[in-house]
Amino acid sequence: MSLAPQLLAILVCPKCKGPLENRERETTLVCPSCRLAYPVRDEIPIMLIDEASPI
Ligand SMILES: [Zn+2]
Repeated sequence: MSLAPQLLAILVCPKCKGPLENRERETTLVCPSCRLAYPVRDEIPIMLIDEASPI
């Protein structure tokens, strides 16, 4: 997955407003504080708590 760094820089966790980690080879954005993984579909991050998976 190759999200634009500029896009990643402005994305924050909708729950805690903390920074997200873009894990290589995984189509998710991970919030280490909440231990939630937000999906990325068609290179669009789905920043919804309801869509996030616990990790
Ligand atoms: Zn969070």
